[in-house]
Amino acid sequence: MKNKIILSITILPILLLKADKYPFELPELEYNYNSLEPYIDEDTMKIHHNCHHKAYRDNLNKALQGGDEIHRNMSLEDLVTSNSIPKKYRAEVRNFGGGLINHNHYFGQFSPADISKKSPECELLKDINKYFGSFEKFKKKFNDQAKKIFGSGWVWLIRKPNGTLRIISKQNQDAPHKIGDPLVGMDLWEHAYYLKHNCNRAKHIDDFWQVLDWSKIEKKFDKVKNR
Ligand code: MN
Repeated sequence: MKNKIILSITILPILLLKADKYPFELPELEYNYNSLEPYIDEDTMKIHHNCHHKAYRDNLNKALQGGDEIHRNMSLEDLVTSNSIPKKYRAEVRNFGGGLINHNHYFGQFSPADISKKSPECELLKDINKYFGSFEKFKKKFNDQAKKIFGSGWVWLIRKPNGTLRIISKQNQDAPHKIGDPLVGMDLWEHAYYLKHNCNRAKHIDDFWQVLDWSKIEKKFDKVKNR
């Protein structure tokens, strides 16, 4: 029994480490492509996950294949926050590494609308009230920022290392991890909504909140708070 416990303690971190470095995998969704209907449609989900997300993963692996071993052994988060990526594949790590980690987060925060938790509770709600006044004020500020993104980008709710919560915008696929731990990420690239909503970005923003699962965000919050 004692040996078994020691074995699982030593093996587990190795397995986790292996899954989170080159060659990176495309995480499977925890729900079906049509599970987020009618808010995020099946066609958009298929193309977004199996084409865009997959391409970020493929292109990052390709860049690292010709890169240095030290970078092939880094976790995805260490790659996108590193200041020592060589110039010859720095843009690839920024764009494709960012694209991969952002979409890993994006697809991991949803649940079907009939079961997704629609608002936060406990410690996370306390912090949202503390930094934004109320949950409604937080959502309004987040949505206003999302409507202002020009071109392609994201809006994030992040928790900074000093514990403050902030809403930040990032262009393209620039990852937010250098500033803080991401909690909520809204993809404002047209590929995230154009098939269903065309140019009506405001509708995409409204629909996002219907499938965002705050129980998943609370779990992320607890994890980053204790690390
Ligand atoms: Mn996207």
